[in-house]
Parts: sequence; structure tokens; C-alpha cells
Amino acid sequence: MTARILVVDDILANVKLLETRLTAEYFEVVTAMNGPDALEICERGQCDIVLLDVMMPGMDGFEVCRRLKGNPRTAHLPVVMVTALDQPSDRVRGLEAGADDFLTKPVNDLALITRVRSLVRLKMLADELGMRVATGQGFGYDSSEVTPSSISADNGRILLVDDRESSWQRIAKALMEHNQVTVESDPQEALFRAAEGGFDLVIVSLSLRDFDALRLCSQIRSLERTRLIPILVLAEPEENARLLRGLELGVNDYLMRPVDRNELVARVRTQIRKKRYTSYLRENVQQKMEMAVTDALTGLHNRRYLESHLTALFDQAASRGKALSLLIVDIDFFKAVNDTYGHDGGDDVLREFASRIRANIRGIDLACRFGGEEFVVVMPETDQALAYMIAERLRQKVAAEPFIINGGHRAIDVTISIGVSTLSGAADTTAQLLKRADEALYAAKRDGRNRVVADAA
Ligand code: GH3
Ligand code: MG
Ligand code: MG
Repeated sequence: MTARILVVDDILANVKLLETRLTAEYFEVVTAMNGPDALEICERGQCDIVLLDVMMPGMDGFEVCRRLKGNPRTAHLPVVMVTALDQPSDRVRGLEAGADDFLTKPVNDLALITRVRSLVRLKMLADELGMRVATGQGFGYDSSEVTPSSISADNGRILLVDDRESSWQRIAKALMEHNQVTVESDPQEALFRAAEGGFDLVIVSLSLRDFDALRLCSQIRSLERTRLIPILVLAEPEENARLLRGLELGVNDYLMRPVDRNELVARVRTQIRKKRYTSYLRENVQQKMEMAVTDALTGLHNRRYLESHLTALFDQAASRGKALSLLIVDIDFFKAVNDTYGHDGGDDVLREFASRIRANIRGIDLACRFGGEEFVVVMPETDQALAYMIAERLRQKVAAEPFIINGGHRAIDVTISIGVSTLSGAADTTAQLLKRADEALYAAKRDGRNRVVADAA
């Protein structure tokens, strides 16, 4: 896990210090000593993450951050503001300027590496998901369209696991203004609640009385239902070793006790925002991938999906000596449906036909719209006799009951013709399988339509 970090500070000693520490962790480092230089490096795409000093002469860190976030070419770059410890309001200002995280000077090693790693992980996820869409499905991915800082951090649902009343009261009070806080002092119960879902963040006190808080963190990380919820731990200064262990287990961030109210609020906002951003990325990718393989009119798979899956199904059957059959289904005189009832009437027929196909095949069968009014069904473990029967049943289901179209105003008779082909012999190919089904379909049309013909193979 590596990345190129831009360190921006007007004092050379500070730049060198951060550079040394980051290099020791095998990050690549580039440096700038003023705002305009930093902007130029970012604009040229020469870094992945920016560590930005707030106090600089000329253009200060807030302004640099605002400009980065306001420029579509750099808005996706995570920015960590480096603020002075005695200026807690700077953290809030930094987040308002669009910063993704912040560090306080003097910069603590653990804090530095934790925050940088967490942003690198986020970037890698965005890249990876973006890549999958771009390469897998031919969709462009614009990582600048939504960025973590453009996502609301308000009204988060937080589960606070702490068994000391004086502690949880203070923390809940600080967070209640902008969030819904659920307090749970029993760790086992906390795990159940987390699994019930809906939480944006779990805050865990590292020093629970009768339970190892790290066990809870590790359980949250490993359960399918909770593994994506960010965890923030509250640690005592003397618990450093356990804190490190927690970070290795996948804890996302930490706060040292006594907890500073401003820092608490800001860290919580940061985690909630990251959580929402990653959920957005995942859903977006999921949706794009589904769209890319689905026919919008009928909801069946499209031709692209068939092409990528037919080979796999075919090879599986061929290598295991199992049967496989394929149907090409074509609606008879469909042009006349369009001519008589309009294109919308035709679309109604296609939709209704798709749902009759769905109702008449098994879960393992693959049905798709091949194009226009032509559909393909691939049926694993189905020999020719069975495939013929299924095709015949589908033909009857279509012919037996009129199709309701034009918003329920009309019922029309529709028929289909089907060509069946079946995998035959070691030398067979998917192209030949499709070709034989197509020839059989042609024969069905020629012989008068509304019928099923199987290939001769
Ligand atoms: P045959 O019995 O020989 O199959 O005759 P046909 O009229 O069904 O065949 P032909 O291929 O000549 O016409 C297919 C028609 O399907 C032509 C085209 O306008 C129509 N079509 C293709 N895609 C769509 C669509 O998405 N919606 C609608 N409404 N019509 C479509
Ligand atoms: Mg047709
Ligand atoms: Mg046709």
C-alpha cells in the first residue's frame, strides 16, 4: 500500500520532519513550501494525498484547500490539514474548507501514519471500484463527480460502547447536537445492535471493565453485516500498545482521553463522511455494473452479458460431459404489432413476453434479450428432448393468453417461433450452437411460425 504524499509547509524543518517519517513508512514524498506551488503540483496530478499546513504567509492552508476542492481536476484529492494544537477552531474551519482530515502539531507518528493510511485505503478503494467499472464494462468513471467532502456528515447514527457513565454522558452530549447517539454498555449487546444495521459509526472505549474491547472491534470487523462500519476507539495514553493492535485489526481512527470536544466532533464527522462516501462508491459501481448487463426495457440480461457468460456455461458443460441447450425465440410478425398499435404497444408486448419467459425457466437458466424482438435462453443440464419440451411449453404460454397492451385498453394475440440447439460433441463451439439455433428458428418461420424446431445435430 503505497502512495505519493505532498507535504506543504512554509518552514523547511517541518517539511523535512514529515518527509522523513513518511519515507520511513515507504510512502513517496513530494514537497512544496507555499500554496501556489502546492496547487500546481496537484493540478499536474503528481500526488495522491496532501498534507497541508494551515499557517503559511501569502495563501494560507484554508485557501489552498478551498481552491483544491473547488477545482474539478483536484477535488478528489484527500487533504489533511495540519493545525496548531492551541487552535481547536482551526479543525472546524479546515473541515468547512473541505479538508478530509486533520492533524495537530507537533505531529504524533501514530496519528500521522493512521490518518495517511486510512486515506490511502479510501483512495485505493475509489481507484479499484472506478477501474472495475471502466475496464469491465466500458463505462467512464469520473472520480471528481462526488468527493468525500461534498457528502453530508450530518445526522449520523452512532453506536457508543462505553461502560463508564461519566464518560459516555460527556461524549453523547457532545455528539447529540448533530447525530443520533445510541449508548450500549454491554459489549455483546453492542455487537447485536451493530448487526441490526443502520449505524454510520461505532465508538468503542478501549478500556471496558469486564471485556476485551479489541475482541469487540475484531468481531465487528469480521461479521458480514458490520464489517464496513467504521470504528473509532477511545484510548488512554498508557494503552498505546493495545491501540496499535486495534489499528492493525482494522480500527479506523482513535481519540486519546481526556477527549477534546472539538476533536471528537471533527473526527466523528470525518468518519461518517468517509463511510457514506464509500457506500456511495459501492452502490454506484453496483448499479453501473447492473445497468451495463441489463436490458432497460425488459429487465432481462442483455447481449453483452450473454456473450460473456455463454462461453463459461458452454465450457463447464463441455468439460464435464453435461448437456446444454439453447433457444432462440423470435416474436412472429412483430413489425405488424408496431405498425398497428404503435411503438409503445410493441414495447408492452416485449415487456410482457419477458415476464412470461422468466416465469417459465429455472433459476440456473440464462435468459437475455438478444436484440429487437429476439431472445436467447441458455439451459445448462438440459438435453434436446427436455429443451424441446420447455420451448413448446413457452410457445403455448404465449399463444394461449392474449397480451394486454396500451395501458390495459387492448388485448392482442401474440405468437412466437423458437429454434432449439443442443451441445453436441467435443468439436462443438458457442458460435455453432448459436448458428444451429438460428437455422432451426428460420425453419420454424418458414414452416408457418408459432412453432418449435430443434436442430438436426
Ligand atoms: P417475423 O415473424 O419474420 O419475425 O417478422 P417480424 O415482423 O417479427 O420481423 P422483423 O425482423 O421484420 O421485425 C422486427 C421488428 O421489431 C422491427 C423493429 O421495428 C421492431 N423492434 C425492434 N426493437 C424494438 C423495440 O425495442 N421496441 C419495439 N416496439 N419494436 C422493436
Ligand atoms: Mg419477429
Ligand atoms: Mg426479427
